[in-house]
Amino acid sequence: MDTKATKDLQYWKNYASSLKIDARAFIDGKSVEAADGATFDCVSPIDGKVIAKVTQSGETEINLAVAAARRSFEQGVWAGLNPRKRKSAMQRWASLLREHADELSALETIDAGKPIGDTTSVDIPGAIYCVEWFAEAIDKVGGEVAPVDHHLVGLVTREPIGVVAAVVPWNFPLLMASWKFAPALAAGNSVVLKPSEKSPLTAIRVAQLAFEAGIPAGVFNVVPGFGSAGKLLALHMDVDCIAFTGSTAVGKQIMQCAGQSNLKRTWLELGGKSPNIILPDCPDLDRAASSAASAIFYNMGEMCTAGSRLLVHRDIKDAFIEKLLVAAKSYTPGHPLDPSTSMGAIVDTIQLERVQSYIEAGRAEASLLTGGNRTLQDTGGYYIEPTVFDVSNPAARIAREEIFGPVLSVLTFDSVDDAVRIANDSEYGLAAAVWTSNLTTAHEVSRRLRAGTIWVNCYDEGGDMNFPFGGYKQSGNGRDKSLHALEKYTELKSTLVRLR
Ligand code: NAP
Ligand code: MG
Repeated sequence: MDTKATKDLQYWKNYASSLKIDARAFIDGKSVEAADGATFDCVSPIDGKVIAKVTQSGETEINLAVAAARRSFEQGVWAGLNPRKRKSAMQRWASLLREHADELSALETIDAGKPIGDTTSVDIPGAIYCVEWFAEAIDKVGGEVAPVDHHLVGLVTREPIGVVAAVVPWNFPLLMASWKFAPALAAGNSVVLKPSEKSPLTAIRVAQLAFEAGIPAGVFNVVPGFGSAGKLLALHMDVDCIAFTGSTAVGKQIMQCAGQSNLKRTWLELGGKSPNIILPDCPDLDRAASSAASAIFYNMGEMCTAGSRLLVHRDIKDAFIEKLLVAAKSYTPGHPLDPSTSMGAIVDTIQLERVQSYIEAGRAEASLLTGGNRTLQDTGGYYIEPTVFDVSNPAARIAREEIFGPVLSVLTFDSVDDAVRIANDSEYGLAAAVWTSNLTTAHEVSRRLRAGTIWVNCYDEGGDMNFPFGGYKQSGNGRDKSLHALEKYTELKSTLVRLR
């Protein structure tokens, strides 16, 4: 047995190169190639090398997957199962995922460039926990008996919707997918998942393991492919619900596709430009500074909740920035398979160029405090230094648009009202944070911030499943996580029985 101490860079490199990657679509209990044989290259951002040829799902594969999901749903092999049995199957699946945790972590790291220290401690355990959490709810959550006239019995029940499509991004490939498929499957639906073309490998593996654990054929299908495959799902007449995590621009298209087709239920978890407000009575400037650095540099800034707008009161600005720049140094990019690496690679060249173009815009409209360069180019991979700009104009592009990279805008304010106004002046409303020692200020500011998650004296806390997660405004609708997420994947039915 390997101990944790032996799992160094060389260990993980050997481990990753020994993986046998089956990157075919998983439809109706089988690994399948595209009917026309189409594949696309899965490139590792660690070094720019191709690590797998992935099935490129087209119309045929999407139709096959939706048909398999429909058939399994109508046959009741999953939806009609005794809830305890459905729970047991998901628990067996979670155990199998745990047995394969190293494999899944390594796949996630080589596919998306995330540090192995994060995939082994956050991404993969988080996804397994999500499966377990919703499995546990299956035989705990029931319906209601409504208080109606004595001659009636009124039942309010929740039923699975049917075929749920999930389209997910690449920043937390398996974790974001699990926030969809775990509650959707727990509620009894059959699922068709389209992972991002930039990070399809763990989703495919997890579907193979679901089948191995006894989840019946057709209940969980994975169709890797491009955005066009996601669009086919959004337009499909036999998909009952689409759950999407990704950009606001694509989210809008998904909603339009639902309107153009069968008015499928549409759940959107979209982008953000979250404000992190440091008031002058911040209880601990050192902790706030290291938290502000992690809020933007963790996961290379590829975070929907990234604290990408740091709002600092003028009186403490200089002192705070000094501490922030020290904290930023602990995010020097390194080899993602090295357990000591805290910052990995940007997911692909498209995202790399996007981040670089924002940095160029920033150089023109703000002053650069640190970073700003591509680094480790000799590796062939895609790495960017942690970058901080002092932005005097809140209307600057880098302070308004979601960059989805390690680029922080520092803005200055003079009063609480000022801070709240700047914070809320955004099309997004995913998350926000405020640092203060005053209990009243903490609650009042929390109430005034228009965002789905508010952190007080912390950032990015809440890794468990109890809290609903999602956005106000153009950060989306609906909520992932918590029992509220189960509701998204059910229809509400009223049944009235006349007794006499
Ligand atoms: P994206 O470009 O919107 O893509 C998301 C998914 O949609 C991918 O699987 C993509 O496939 C697919 N897609 C692209 N075009 C499509 C279309 N016309 N119809 C249907 N599907 C389509 O987003 P991303 O770059 O992967 O992810 C970054 C975004 O996700 C950021 O905006 C981030 O804030 C957001 N995000 C939000 C949350 C949240 O919970 N609110 C969590 C994480 C990320 P391909 O990749 O194959 O093109
Ligand atoms: Mg990849």
